[in-house]
Amino acid sequence: MREQTIAKKVELVGIGLHKGVPVKMTLEPLDEHCGIHFYRSDVGVSIPLKPENVVDTTMATVIARDGHRISTIEHLLSAVYAYGIDNLKITLDNEEVPIMDGSSIGYCMLLEEAGIVQQSSTKRILKVKSPIEVKEGDKFVRFEPSDACFFDFSIHFPHPAIGTQKYKFQFSTQNYKEEIARARTFGFLNEVQYMHSIGLALGGSLENAIVLDETGILNQDGLRYKEEFVRHKILDAIGDMALLGIPLLGTYVSYAGSHKLNHLLTKKIFEESGAFEIMAVEEASPIYTYSLQNA
Ligand SMILES: [Zn+2]
Repeated sequence: MREQTIAKKVELVGIGLHKGVPVKMTLEPLDEHCGIHFYRSDVGVSIPLKPENVVDTTMATVIARDGHRISTIEHLLSAVYAYGIDNLKITLDNEEVPIMDGSSIGYCMLLEEAGIVQQSSTKRILKVKSPIEVKEGDKFVRFEPSDACFFDFSIHFPHPAIGTQKYKFQFSTQNYKEEIARARTFGFLNEVQYMHSIGLALGGSLENAIVLDETGILNQDGLRYKEEFVRHKILDAIGDMALLGIPLLGTYVSYAGSHKLNHLLTKKIFEESGAFEIMAVEEASPIYTYSLQNA
């Protein structure tokens, strides 16, 4: 199968999570082999998507170049990865990707509006050949070899609405849209209040996050999925794996993984040349494409 980009330019306007100001985002096709590029139109700076450009992973995944940042890239990139897009230009007129509803379904709809086209070069994937892991205390993220692509995630929060959640997701674009794309980010009310007090998460609200107090969920409509919390962690992990710059063939396993551990894993695999192999995908694959599945 071939590399893919979008068929036409599309745009949307939303608010950034931290500054709470409107941001215009434009997606445009890019030539084959270009990869994913961000562009800050307000400062005229282009930032290629690669692990070396990640500068912060504490609250979200943040890339920067020459001191100009783009924050909260992971939900958009999760959708871009899920739709099998290899080459794309993402232009923003501020330093954050619009948060939308805290999930990636809005970006999925935008990509479907744009349409997806095949380019002339053969698509390549990264096949995991031996396990590779990053740990921090009892938390870990790991790649394992497999002939399909799975994301197997567990979390534990000592909170009555969360507790222990586990979800094993078999990756395909269609499965992503049904099982993962609508899972929202979440936060605890006391943390949200603290972040507001230091000028962060100013755009954060019940419109774009699940918010928990000490006993339950504040969102009146409740949850979208039974395991929405762990499914959102998978959404985040898929977005962070987009930093590899190439689709993954293997299984991602994590307990309590974070943007930080995901970032370290994407760096570590490229440091161990025996841990992976880059392969051409000669045949059309239902795993990596949306357009073929719906053809
Ligand atoms: Zn997230």
